[in-house]
Amino acid sequence: MKNNSSGGVKMKVIRLCDAPTEAGEVGCHGMAVRWLITRSDGAKTVLMRVFEVEPGGDSPFHSHTWEHACFVLDGKGKITCEGKTLDLEPGVALFVPPKKLHRVESIGTTPLKVLECAPSVAEEAYHQA
Ligand SMILES: [Zn+2]
Repeated sequence: MKNNSSGGVKMKVIRLCDAPTEAGEVGCHGMAVRWLITRSDGAKTVLMRVFEVEPGGDSPFHSHTWEHACFVLDGKGKITCEGKTLDLEPGVALFVPPKKLHRVESIGTTPLKVLECAPSVAEEAYHQA
């Protein structure tokens, strides 16, 4: 077989319901993280995960060196960043710049589900916390 630059890494297809799930980061309430694409899949630079936040759950104010590129799949919430609070609802995409303090709250009656794409360093940080 012909060699290529992906070094034997194979394409992956996974359903959200089959994604490995872990608790949210320290300080989060009612949050689960579902890992869709990670380093263990051979992804060298990006990750994809879904945050599920129970009604009333939240992440505390935090910041990090990487960018969040997120898309709301389900539920209702709010994000606060740099003194501004914006509504989150299905169909909304958001970008959180690096090193900006931000906080997410789930305010609906069903879990807030947010798809996130981020650099792989976010995965390392999660597992070092
Ligand atoms: Zn964050």
